[in-house]
Amino acid sequence: MIIVSACLLGFNCRYDGTGRPDKTLLLPDVRPYLVPVCPEQIGGLPTPRVPSEIDTGDGSHVLEGRARVVSAQGADVTDNFLRGAEEVLRFMKLMGISAAIMTEKSPSCGVHHIKRNGVTVPGYGVTSSLLKKHGVVIVSSERIADDIGFLLGKVV
Ligand code: SF4
Repeated sequence: MIIVSACLLGFNCRYDGTGRPDKTLLLPDVRPYLVPVCPEQIGGLPTPRVPSEIDTGDGSHVLEGRARVVSAQGADVTDNFLRGAEEVLRFMKLMGISAAIMTEKSPSCGVHHIKRNGVTVPGYGVTSSLLKKHGVVIVSSERIADDIGFLLGKVV
């Protein structure tokens, strides 16, 4: 099985109440292997919700207590993001899952990039940072069409 950011499978779980379905993931020979998770919802945040950003560094700094996740209204939602990340990791260990496809640029799921002040900057989201730290193979949503064969080869 492969963990997937739920918005990529069409769940309307993004901050603005929309999804971002990816057509490759919805192919009949791919979708049976996918398990959707939304770390921000799992961490207790509502949908729709005020968008948030990591205030400095990236998700790894949040895990180390050196950065916070702050909503556009100034609320500190770091605990929600940490809880969501830890729950996803706990579930993956429980199910023996070691691969994930995550939504690029999200403060939770970003793989190579996140957003700060509306600008794309290098870095991992909080959940992707925690998964990476625990050896999970992570594919960016921007590489799905290129890397899905590689990922399926690891789990099938
Ligand atoms: Fe999608 Fe991840 Fe944001 Fe949830 S937290 S809406 S799964 S990018």
